[in-house]
Amino acid sequence: MKEFSKHIVIIGGGIVGLATAYKLARGVPGARVTVLEKEAAIGRHQTGNNSGVLHCGLYYKPGSAKALLAVSGIREMTEFCRAHNIPHEICGKLVVAADESELPRLHDLHERGQKNGLQGLQLLNRKQMLEIEPHVGGVAALKVPQEGIVDYPKVCDALQQEIEKLGGCIATSARVTALDEQSRGWTARTAAGDFEADFLVNCAGLHCDRVSELAGEKREVRIVPFRGEYYKLKPARQFLVRNLIYPVPDPQFPFLGVHFTRLIEGGVEAGPNAVLAFAREGYRKTDINPRDLFDALTFRGLWRFLGKHKRMSWEELRRSFSKRRFCESLQRLVPEIRESDLETGGAGVRAQAMSPDGTLVQDFCFVNRRKALHVLNAPSPAATASLAIGEEIKNLIANEI
Ligand SMILES: Cc1cc2nc3c(=O)[nH]c(=O)nc-3n(C[C@H](O)[C@H](O)[C@H](O)COP(=O)(O)OP(=O)(O)OC[C@H]3O[C@@H](n4cnc5c(N)ncnc54)[C@H](O)[C@@H]3O)c2cc1C
Repeated sequence: MKEFSKHIVIIGGGIVGLATAYKLARGVPGARVTVLEKEAAIGRHQTGNNSGVLHCGLYYKPGSAKALLAVSGIREMTEFCRAHNIPHEICGKLVVAADESELPRLHDLHERGQKNGLQGLQLLNRKQMLEIEPHVGGVAALKVPQEGIVDYPKVCDALQQEIEKLGGCIATSARVTALDEQSRGWTARTAAGDFEADFLVNCAGLHCDRVSELAGEKREVRIVPFRGEYYKLKPARQFLVRNLIYPVPDPQFPFLGVHFTRLIEGGVEAGPNAVLAFAREGYRKTDINPRDLFDALTFRGLWRFLGKHKRMSWEELRRSFSKRRFCESLQRLVPEIRESDLETGGAGVRAQAMSPDGTLVQDFCFVNRRKALHVLNAPSPAATASLAIGEEIKNLIANEI
């Protein structure tokens, strides 16, 4: 029987919380981990509603945590998938410049990818890109061979098994409602009882700012939910997309623009867009949560963001309500796509941290204080990078436990 001398509680059973629990259980001698998850099962929010893409670190500012952890994270994630027989495929992707005006940004992206250490990036002319994706539009493309697709819910299941093998535990239906600081650490009060902790890690995704407030932190940076809606390609038209086809992103917004993703379980998704949501777990257009709405409307950062990005916010909203507009965006990538090829798909909600001045926090954000580490921004590519994030958290807190 394994002897434990300390207890680490991780709040949030999404992929970041689970990967962190796994890394801590493996890497901190004498540590027993417990993951507290408010839902009846793990991975129900961002992790279970994302695009299933393995991002290799192309987009992110060189030297940023996102760039470093995506590059090491994709390597670790693919090794983990291989070791646990989790379906995944490194199929590569094309980032497509729809017209000449996008070429400078495509070249900048190429340079950025090289600075981030990506191998095999290749700028393609139209003839070359058609050999890879015969139905793609545009004038040029960047081939990114390292990117892939994966089944993230299966990764979560494997992480759960590993955590349990290491003597850890995952408590579901255990919403954390209060955190009381004690001389030794914390008591987490939950719907499933109290849990004593020598150290807390907050990986609560869409609610991470609120959980940090329960631990006495000021909520300067706040989570603003952006819903991402998908369409699915009808089976008869899936031949139009072989793998992953992305637009050249707008450097101001970390969201990547609507794109095509082949899914590991079969089928092709189109999307997601990025619409301000009226509920942090608002998966339908009509979902409104009064607390979340009040929280958003009383946050001056959101008003500043809307003031600065009126056009973008309005265009996203219009596209959300108009299949025709959504289809027009997709046609910039694959001109043969028709509205009739698209069936309504699912949706996910991104937990995006926003500063009081209305800027979106671009990098991952970890705040380590008073025997607690709070993950306050872990948007895409945090699923890809989750094992690397867990390793980073382990290194940040190992000396304090
Ligand atoms: C539409 C969309 C597409 C994306 N595509 C990709 C992609 O292709 N590749 C990629 O790498 N990333 C992608 N991402 C990002 C990725 O999904 C997230 O970065 C990642 O899942 C974050 O994981 P998490 O564990 O932090 O959050 P979550 O998965 O949201 O988990 C947080 C958990 O905390 C729990 N929780 C919250 N409050 C409490 C509480 N008080 N008590 C107990 N539990 C609590 C929640 O129930 C939830 O299960 C995408 C995200 C979205 C929304």
